[in-house]
Amino acid sequence: MGNVENVVILGSGCAGCTAAIYAARAQLKPLVLVGELPGGLLTQTTEIENFPGFPEGIQGAELMDRMRQQAERFGARFLATSAQKIEIQSDRKILSLANGDKIESKAVIIATGSKPNTLGLPNETTLLGGKGLSVCATCDGFFYRNEIVCVIGGGDSACEEALYLSKICKKVFLIHRRDVLRASKIMAERVCHNEKIEVVWNSIPVDFKLDTEGFISGLQVKNTQDATSRIIDCKGVFLAIGWKPNTQVFGDVLDLDDKGYVKIFDKAVCTQVPGIFAAGDCVDPFYRQACVAAGMGAQAALEAEAWLLNHE
Ligand code: NAP
Repeated sequence: MGNVENVVILGSGCAGCTAAIYAARAQLKPLVLVGELPGGLLTQTTEIENFPGFPEGIQGAELMDRMRQQAERFGARFLATSAQKIEIQSDRKILSLANGDKIESKAVIIATGSKPNTLGLPNETTLLGGKGLSVCATCDGFFYRNEIVCVIGGGDSACEEALYLSKICKKVFLIHRRDVLRASKIMAERVCHNEKIEVVWNSIPVDFKLDTEGFISGLQVKNTQDATSRIIDCKGVFLAIGWKPNTQVFGDVLDLDDKGYVKIFDKAVCTQVPGIFAAGDCVDPFYRQACVAAGMGAQAALEAEAWLLNHE
């Protein structure tokens, strides 16, 4: 092991890069482990229209590139690897890296994000790149205004997405694999009473129909009761079948909730381990927004700075 780092940031999405900008400007020389998806989930979307400061919108990959450059300008270092284990030795955190190295750090900020659950159908990854498949109605709904869309899932997220889209789109089909929604009663009732939403019960998506340019033009769904299938003509499909936070490797040292999100004990970003902070989608099952993750990244860096000051 080399020098002891002040703060190592795990993840290079919105939360990680914002934490890096703040920690670097506080002269902590943060080390960012970029993780398995450099730049995070935003690099896989196309245009982002709701990140403040970009009235014309900005491509996700460009936004993340700019955030990284901004952090590097103040001295943040980025390393192309990820942490596979954290151990605590007295006050120090020992990180075992995917490249075989070990790093010792005083503070750690976990900003490893989360992954959307997918259906496992062919083309899903390609279609998620701006070709009609989305995991965020708030982010992408506007691209489907006055169009017909499908939402997959029966939980609170699916209902929330369907209700949001019903204000923008011509019609919303909510495809659910059972005959009762998992969502809270109030959300389920709102969906069932919304005249722009049609719930397609006992049904699972089996294939995407594509136009000549490879964009979604329909969704084939199969009824689980009688095995009949139908094609719903639509321009967009929104997956809302749950998320998996990228936190599996931290379960030994941190409390995770039953879905795997890092449990927070103080000030929105402090874990139960002194000197380990967490920010962004690995903590937040509700908002999943770039600007929210960025805000949490800033909070985590400010808390890390204060903690380091008190422990020097
Ligand atoms: P969730 O509650 O786990 O619901 C996931 C839904 O997707 C379920 O209806 C499930 O069907 C369905 N599903 C899962 N895998 C599927 C597959 N392969 N094919 C088809 N359908 C599939 O997840 P969530 O809705 O994201 O909610 C997560 C947590 O956040 C919950 O605690 C929720 O209450 C909370 N939340 C709250 C709000 C709010 O209060 N406004 C908003 C969003 C989320 P089954 O029902 O058959 O299992």
